[in-house]
Amino acid sequence: MTQIVILGSGFAAIAAIRELRRRKVQADITVVSPKNELIYLPSLIWLPAGLRHGQDLRIDLAAYFCRQQVKWFQGSVQQVLDGGRRVVTDHGELANDFLIIATGGRYIRKLPGIEHAIIPCEGIAQAEVIRDRISAMNGGTIAIGFASNPKEPGAMRGGPMFEFLFGIDTLLRRQQRRDLFKLVFFAPSNKPGQRLGESAVERILEHMDRCGIETHLGHKPVRFEPSKVVTEGGEFDADLILFMPGLTGPAWLDQCELPRSEGGFIQGDANCRVPGLQRVYVAGDIGSFPGPDWMAKQAHQADLQAVAAARNIAAVLRGDPESHEFCTELACIIDGLDSGMLVYRRGKRRLIVPRMAPLHWAKRWFEAAYLRSLR
Ligand SMILES: Cc1cc2nc3c(=O)[nH]c(=O)nc-3n(C[C@H](O)[C@H](O)[C@H](O)COP(=O)(O)OP(=O)(O)OC[C@H]3O[C@@H](n4cnc5c(N)ncnc54)[C@H](O)[C@@H]3O)c2cc1C
Repeated sequence: MTQIVILGSGFAAIAAIRELRRRKVQADITVVSPKNELIYLPSLIWLPAGLRHGQDLRIDLAAYFCRQQVKWFQGSVQQVLDGGRRVVTDHGELANDFLIIATGGRYIRKLPGIEHAIIPCEGIAQAEVIRDRISAMNGGTIAIGFASNPKEPGAMRGGPMFEFLFGIDTLLRRQQRRDLFKLVFFAPSNKPGQRLGESAVERILEHMDRCGIETHLGHKPVRFEPSKVVTEGGEFDADLILFMPGLTGPAWLDQCELPRSEGGFIQGDANCRVPGLQRVYVAGDIGSFPGPDWMAKQAHQADLQAVAAARNIAAVLRGDPESHEFCTELACIIDGLDSGMLVYRRGKRRLIVPRMAPLHWAKRWFEAAYLRSLR
């Protein structure tokens, strides 16, 4: 039987499994990951307000894998060797006929004093620390900012930081203690979140203004101190710092000879193939792909790439060429706990639906539908 190995059990991996099974590919599918669970990262933004708890976002995949007839191999990938045919993990080795690499990205922790900041997107534990820190504060300054990977400017996560910012603003208002806090948003760019489009940035900045959120824009952060953010354009005090550094590829790539982009990601082509290798595909945050500069590192984009990879595997097994290209599409709801703004981009099409309550509920509905399909 043909052996398909998928590295990672995140969004891209799930989308690849779904598509392979939907296309009735006759093959053994093995997923390699440290835990057979998916962390539903987009809802981390609701942890500080208590709208979600850690256990709500940690989805056990055992039943899903069983239904999809997927074998789960517990392990962390350490190397991919022999042109992709051999995967070395901390729990042994696996061979494959087709390989999909989808183990996600890593945050660049180079900024001096980064330990004084919380990286909220790293996971459940960090989002819970934010919840506990805010609840213990009687007032003060909360600074929230992001930066990108200088070698690959698209490798960033701006959207969730706006969501943490607006969510904390709403939370403090609900608790009737917003007046005790100063919220400061900082970013190296004067137009943070530019990939969303000029008009979306304008609306985001207007909303910050309406909420009384101060901005410190256009200056690269230089370092963090226990109660201070220092940037090239000045410094300001902060009792709690939430910072989202740029993304790069995972450390295990250093042990392999997979082709890498400037920013440290695995190179993928428009068909999600890794150039120079046979039957090796890449999908999601770990990849660097050709496309417009607004292509996002998003679960939605990861899904689209994984679907293309799976379709190409199905094509090869049928004896057809690998002609499926992934589609570049940006779709997100920037939530604020009580309302959200929708941003959509595809080709020349752009849509912005201004902040409104139903979009917050749409984001909750989408989460419920996605998680129901895995339970
Ligand atoms: C707070 C937050 C909010 C977000 N909001 C949205 C949103 O609203 N919409 C949206 O589309 N996207 C959103 N995103 C982005 C989205 O979550 C990511 O783009 C998406 O998770 C990428 O999917 P992936 O499969 O590439 O990687 P991941 O989901 O990170 O999955 C990687 C998988 O690989 C596994 N893994 C890691 N290392 C190894 C290893 N060495 N060996 C084996 N397995 C390994 C991990 O355990 C995991 O299972 C958000 C992200 C965050 C953090």
